[in-house]
Amino acid sequence: MTSADVFVVTIDGPAGAGKSTTARSVAHRLGLRYLDSGALYRALALAAMDGGVDLDDEQRLAALVKQHRIELGADGAVVLDGRDVRDRIRTPEVSNAASRVSRFEAVRTALIGLQRLAATAPGAVAEGRDMGTVVFPEADLKVFLDADPEERVRRRAADLGAAEGTPEYERLRRTIAERDRRDRGRAVAPLRAAPDALRLDSTRLSPSEVVERIVSEAEKRRARKRLEN
Ligand code: C5P
Repeated sequence: MTSADVFVVTIDGPAGAGKSTTARSVAHRLGLRYLDSGALYRALALAAMDGGVDLDDEQRLAALVKQHRIELGADGAVVLDGRDVRDRIRTPEVSNAASRVSRFEAVRTALIGLQRLAATAPGAVAEGRDMGTVVFPEADLKVFLDADPEERVRRRAADLGAAEGTPEYERLRRTIAERDRRDRGRAVAPLRAAPDALRLDSTRLSPSEVVERIVSEAEKRRARKRLEN
């Protein structure tokens, strides 16, 4: 468990499972900060692409974390060296590059401090791939959110406005499969559920049903924690 004045909820899972929408709304409902850890990997990947850095060069990629300033604004801004890049980091190219840079241990270690900053009072809802397993192993509630692969592709396509059957849709299907394979198969901090995670499959649940389940479990645990302290 985290310290008495802090409450941390982690939400891990593959791309398109609904983590971002869920985490944002759970954070709002519980009055906690929202941490989009994927945005940090995306911003770093963008800095590497802009700077012409080889996406296979672990040491140069890790060094980029010190050379650039990455900040997450409360309003969803993702700021790289003073510029808001929230739109630029959502392209399929950056998604793919983020999953390539994130496979390196030195990169993950370099970004861990920025992520843990979120765990000061009152706490945070942190979403990503290794929030419950590596970054916040003491989290008060860990959730592993999954959905059928086809449903996850459909949701991402709807977000990006890609119609089913189009080349863009097929490309999305391939990139998501590739990203999942890489995120699950990497040696360092692979995507997997923490043993003590609450597993939720969102395939047949509405976004608000997912949020309600997490909020009600979190409120129960927060009340218990307050009583114990
Ligand atoms: O969550 P999002 O899709 O924005 O993440 C982009 C990529 O960043 C993921 O595919 C994954 O490779 C990486 N990532 C990670 N660990 C996290 C969050 C994201 O490795 N905690």
